[in-house]
Amino acid sequence: TKFSDLKLDPKVLKAVAEAGYEDPTPIQAGAIPHALEGRDVLGIAQTGTGKTASFTLPMITLLGRGRARARMPRSLVLCPTRELAAQVAENFDTYAKHTRLTKALLIGGVSFAEQDKLIDRGVDVLIATPGRLLDHFERGKLLLTGVQIMVVDEADRMLDMGFIPDIERIFQLTPFTRQTLFFSATMAPEIERITNTFLHAPQRIEV
Ligand code: AMP
Repeated sequence: TKFSDLKLDPKVLKAVAEAGYEDPTPIQAGAIPHALEGRDVLGIAQTGTGKTASFTLPMITLLGRGRARARMPRSLVLCPTRELAAQVAENFDTYAKHTRLTKALLIGGVSFAEQDKLIDRGVDVLIATPGRLLDHFERGKLLLTGVQIMVVDEADRMLDMGFIPDIERIFQLTPFTRQTLFFSATMAPEIERITNTFLHAPQRIEV
């Protein structure tokens, strides 16, 4: 598979070429076509396999096809740690640089004020750790009813860190009709249970 065979937005393909990527990795070749069709994806992949692009590239493409909804985030990416969330945000900026899509990084250890400003201004994509996302929600600052695409990254680490109840809660705050792209390095029984509960007929891709 070549990147040009994947039905990605030309603006995304341009950014990928500028990043110096030649061919999609196996998780990218496996996940991107299903994600672009609107299917739920269950990706079983370790870090270093290119999994970040496997959800970010189709997400940018799908958001580019839709219309912005005033002030409502249309996509949510949940990461277990601040560092990982910051990395995903950096990747998003790289791949979305030829688009007008906007993002906010919602992580702990930073004052709420800056993040509030971004949320109020309206962003397309939220990239967050679960605790900080729920803090914003509980402060009445955030509605997730416009979320069309939800990504859960490194679910096995979320499990290790005790975030599964937060993840379940966040799933319940988003519309039932959302598309979910869910990634984990391993499939522990608790992870299997979450995917059975919240994913709709997911395409399972294991690399
Ligand atoms: P990840 O598994 O998402 O953490 O990605 C691991 C590294 O691979 C990152 O530094 C990416 O920039 C890089 N990468 C992702 N996709 C590709 C690709 N198709 N070709 C070359 N490098 C890539």
